[in-house]
Amino acid sequence: MTSVNDLVAANRILYERGVLDGFGHVSLRDESDPQRFLLARNVAPALVTADDIMTFDLDGTACDGDARTPYLERFIHGSIYRARPDVGAVVHSHSPGVIPFGIVSGAPLRPVFHMASFLRGSVPVFEIRDAAGPDNDLLVRDVSLGHALARTLGAGSVVLMRGHGSTTVGRDVREAVFRAVYAEANARLQAEALRLGPVTYLSETEALRSSESNAGQITRAWELWTSALPS
Ligand code: MN
Repeated sequence: MTSVNDLVAANRILYERGVLDGFGHVSLRDESDPQRFLLARNVAPALVTADDIMTFDLDGTACDGDARTPYLERFIHGSIYRARPDVGAVVHSHSPGVIPFGIVSGAPLRPVFHMASFLRGSVPVFEIRDAAGPDNDLLVRDVSLGHALARTLGAGSVVLMRGHGSTTVGRDVREAVFRAVYAEANARLQAEALRLGPVTYLSETEALRSSESNAGQITRAWELWTSALPS
């Protein structure tokens, strides 16, 4: 039940922090069965309650004969859990700040401040045309597109999706929420900074050291964001 409550809180936090709106979703790997994950039925994230949480296998099929309408893009989650045993939570978002970095070639998303040091290295961009061809609707609507997205994510923490949004992963729900919030913040700051002049990014070493330092601080943000939720 604790994990269900955490997932409900994550949905509401991500709405309050501007990462999710009417669309997007967040999931959690099932603690009792790593071949399953928890994800809300097809409902706006801010409205999710414990009763809305469904369980899926890694192919995105609802478990236990649950016939409620799921999110179309649930394949994003199952494919990443299959490819990445280290991942315990996934956020899929259409937050606007990151969109430019997925559509402008030669403008990679890179860490500009320490809260987003998990962006170290290059943040990959998923080009759905490479997997679905020109006749696509941008949506990750089946297992094979999910696997293609997971391949583009690789070992990283964030993958941008050209013309669509982004997907962020973490070892647990707190880390995934933290990263999703700060990836969006970094994108806005980076775009702002690029208008002013040449940008000094975090070096690889700084980003790595900073990530290690931040790892112990994520609970502080989670506690603030949960306590600030409207009742
Ligand atoms: Mn989407």
